[in-house]
Amino acid sequence: MSLPARERELFAPVDADIAAAGSRAAKLAALARHVRVCELCPLSRSRRHAVPGEGSARARLMIVGEGPGASEDDTGRPFAGRSGAQLDRMLADAGILRRSTFITNIVKCRAADEAGGRWHNRPPRAAEVKACRPYLARQIAILRPRVILCLGAWAGRSIIGPGFGIGSGRGRWFAGPSQSDVIATYHPAYIQRGGPGISGKRLERLARADLESVSRRLKARKTT
Ligand code: SF4
Repeated sequence: MSLPARERELFAPVDADIAAAGSRAAKLAALARHVRVCELCPLSRSRRHAVPGEGSARARLMIVGEGPGASEDDTGRPFAGRSGAQLDRMLADAGILRRSTFITNIVKCRAADEAGGRWHNRPPRAAEVKACRPYLARQIAILRPRVILCLGAWAGRSIIGPGFGIGSGRGRWFAGPSQSDVIATYHPAYIQRGGPGISGKRLERLARADLESVSRRLKARKTT
């Protein structure tokens, strides 16, 4: 991996610990330890728990969301709240067990603003995504998943490219990092809310079709 000098310098301790770890699981755990104490962007100041991600170290499917919400910030686990329950249901219906996947986010700490005495989730800022991106890149390099499923536009933009749009781009396959195939679908939280001019039910039908496509692609790439 050819890295910019600044990233090489900042992530030297992370890379040293990953290199010293033996198995994939140990490498992922080493990275997670660094994430939990990371202060590379302002999100470290408002988080309760960083959320490195979790799942099988042999996962062929990596699922990447936007960032932790309140439940995830409380527990330190990805997709722990209502969105997680929705995701688990849709995965199971497509024949995919959550425990066989690895789930993470493009930023590992909750992005939220305080207003009226409450914290409200917001999309991560470009600088926050940029600061956190090296962790995701290393998780992908360690896992080398066959398929990456992006949940929501922000995850799609981060992995597929800055011009990605969820309305026109969801359900399509792209070449991804580490020889993966990448697809994006709607984020479970968006499905639960519904969008402008589109009901949650319709969004869920489309997302379920995308997960069926993921299931077929995983079967097709069994030997690659
Ligand atoms: S969001 Fe990422 S870069 Fe920012 S503090 Fe958390 S782990 Fe570090």
